[in-house]
Amino acid sequence: MRSDIDSIPDYKPGKSAEEVKKKYGLKRVVKLASNENPYGTSPKVVEVLKSFDSFSTYPPKDSQELRERIAEYIGFEPEMIALSSGLDGVLETVFKMLIEPGDGVSFAIPTFPYYSILSKIYRARERKIKRDGDFRMSSFSQNSKLTIVCSPNNPTGNVEDYEFVKEVAESVDGYVFIDEAYAEFTEKKLTRLAEYENVMVGRTFSKAFGLANLRLGYCILHPSLRRAFMKVNEPFPVSSLAIKAGIAALEDVGWMERCVRLIVKDREWLYKQLRKISKPARSEANFLYVETDVEAKIIAEELEKRGVIVRELSGFEGASKYAFRVDVGKRKDLLYFISNFKDVLCSQ
Ligand code: PMP
Repeated sequence: MRSDIDSIPDYKPGKSAEEVKKKYGLKRVVKLASNENPYGTSPKVVEVLKSFDSFSTYPPKDSQELRERIAEYIGFEPEMIALSSGLDGVLETVFKMLIEPGDGVSFAIPTFPYYSILSKIYRARERKIKRDGDFRMSSFSQNSKLTIVCSPNNPTGNVEDYEFVKEVAESVDGYVFIDEAYAEFTEKKLTRLAEYENVMVGRTFSKAFGLANLRLGYCILHPSLRRAFMKVNEPFPVSSLAIKAGIAALEDVGWMERCVRLIVKDREWLYKQLRKISKPARSEANFLYVETDVEAKIIAEELEKRGVIVRELSGFEGASKYAFRVDVGKRKDLLYFISNFKDVLCSQ
């Protein structure tokens, strides 16, 4: 076993509704903790998946057809698109292809914990950047091998300014990875910056397209980087099931856009409701970062007992211990959350 294995933190996923039902003997549990699409996935995707029957054969190594569909969807050439097993798989492949022990990896905290976990696995030197009062990256380091920009950021929901990230791309000696897992929920996308040779943009089918369980993500990157990416990518990172689902999802982009419209409307509604009783931050994603005067661990536990799962942020270095994250779920589940949240705040 490698000697530093204990210093690599476990990735902590959100609790499942089943787990909480069992723990407290509850009938109704609403999960608002993993930034999933509460409306599921397009019925056209479900239809395609139901007719799939080639489970015993390996998937293709790559799918030109899916890459062409993605290329149309985001406005880049298929030669600039690489597929992997979720955006998690994309991130790991980027580390594999770039990072040697001791290389600098920069990112602003709090953010998605997997960047720090990967940095430790690949023995990089982590450079943690502070955020300003609006949670924006306040600076960057010139000579990191890799600078990761999460926009919209998980868990705070804010986007980074296009001009600022452009300046980062133009100034750094190394590479920039823009994590746009939540891009569909904002107008303020940074995707065009993939035009720079040292910039990669990661996207996923897990969030707006509602396909988290199929593990399908992609990277937009310069063709010369793509060759390196494909060398170190797993041999079969994406199943045929995921490929077919991705193609079907992109044939029905309208379904995803309707979900996004609903979620954005409910995000603004939820923000206003929460403003009356707590301090939510403005969000460009499908979740809100909420602060109160009570420790978030207590809020999350008390909500759980009442059948609502939110994400307390102890696994997110740099997050306030008074902050938690809540998904913009269906309106009826949000009403259930708010009434229980009021109840918890009153009981403290
Ligand atoms: N990046 C961010 C910012 C995320 O929040 C997540 C999902 N938790 C991912 C990447 C990974 O997503 P995927 O399901 O595509 O692996």
